[in-house]
Amino acid sequence: MKVHHELDLAAQHLVGVAPPQLALSFVIPVYNEHESLPMIHQRISEVLAIGPQPYRASYEIVFVDDGSSDESFAVCNALRQADARVRVIQFRRNFGKTAALNAGFRFARGERIITIDADMQEDPADMFYLMKPLDEGFDLVSAWRKIRNDPPSKTLPSRVFNTVVARLTGVPLHDFNCGFKAYKREVVADLRLYGELHRFIPVLASQRGFRVTEVAVEHKARRFGKSKFGAKRLGRGYLDFIQVLFLTNYLRRPLRLFGAIGTLLAGFGTLICGYLSVLWLFGERPIGDRPLLTLGVLMLITGLQFISTGLVGEMLRYNTFNPEDEYAIRRIVD
Ligand code: UDP
Ligand code: MG
Repeated sequence: MKVHHELDLAAQHLVGVAPPQLALSFVIPVYNEHESLPMIHQRISEVLAIGPQPYRASYEIVFVDDGSSDESFAVCNALRQADARVRVIQFRRNFGKTAALNAGFRFARGERIITIDADMQEDPADMFYLMKPLDEGFDLVSAWRKIRNDPPSKTLPSRVFNTVVARLTGVPLHDFNCGFKAYKREVVADLRLYGELHRFIPVLASQRGFRVTEVAVEHKARRFGKSKFGAKRLGRGYLDFIQVLFLTNYLRRPLRLFGAIGTLLAGFGTLICGYLSVLWLFGERPIGDRPLLTLGVLMLITGLQFISTGLVGEMLRYNTFNPEDEYAIRRIVD
C-alpha cells in the first residue's frame, strides 16, 4: 500500500477531507427527485452486486439532499434504514448543485468517487467504463452524452457551450457538464468549488495538472420530475465562463491581462494625442473639436485605468496568496 501512503502525504494539507476507508463512494446530488431515488439505489446495488472487487465489497452511496421540498429526504432516510451503505446529508435549504457536490466530496470516504445525477438519465452500470481510464493513469473521467435525450432547448445551447469551452480552455472534452463522472480521491480533495463552478470541473481539474478524459455513455430522457436547469443558466453560465477563464489563466498574474490591454489602449491614446499635439504646434488649430481628440484622451485614460487595475490585482494577490494553491503535488516519496 505504498502508493496510498504517498497519496495520503500529498493530501495531508487538505483539511476537512475524510480519510479514505472504502474503495468507492457514489455522490448523488438530490433536489426534488423522490420518484427516482429508489430506482437509482436499486440499480447501483444490483450493478455492484455482480461488479468486480474491491468495489463490490466496499462502497457507499452518499445522497446529498439539496433542500428538497418534496419527499426526497424521507425516501433517502428509508433507503438508509434498509441499507447501511447509504449515507444522507440534508441541507437546510437549496444551495445548488455545486454546493451539494462539495458537501458530498467532503463526506465521501472512498478511494474513488463517482458522481451521478439522481434522475436516472445515465445508467450507473456504465461506471465501469468510466473507471477504466482511472486504472490507466487518468485522474478524472467525464461521461460524454454522445446522443443526448434532452429537448433541443437544452442540447443546442449545451453544444455551443461545450465547443466554446473546449476551444478556449484547450481541454478537449465534448460534454463538460455531465453529472456522471469518476474521480480519484486526490481530485475531489483538491477541487475548490463555489458558486456554480460544477460545470467547469474538468477545466479546473486539468488546470491543476490532473489528467482528464471522457468516455461516451448512453443517455436517456428524464422519466420523473423536471430539469432543474432552465434557460436561465445560459446567462449565468456565460458569466461563470468568463470567471473560469480568468481564474485559470490570469488569477496568477493579473497584470499580464490588465497590463497588456491597458498598455495597448494607452499606447494608441498616446500616439493619437501626440499626433494632435504636433498638428497644434504647427498651427493646424483648433484641434479641440476633433473627434480624434476625444478618442485619444479616452484611450489614454482607460488604458491607465486598466494598468492600475492590474497593479491592484497584483497587490491583492501578493497579500492573499495561499502557497498550496500555487502547485499540485502528484506524489511525495520520502
Ligand atoms: N440538483 C441539485 N441542486 C439543485 C439543482 C439540481 O442537487 O439546485 C441535482 C438534481 O437533483 C440532479 C442533478 O443535480 O440530480 C442534475 O440536475 P438536472 O437533472 O435537473 O439537470 P440536467 O440534467 O437537466 O442538466
Ligand atoms: Mg438530468
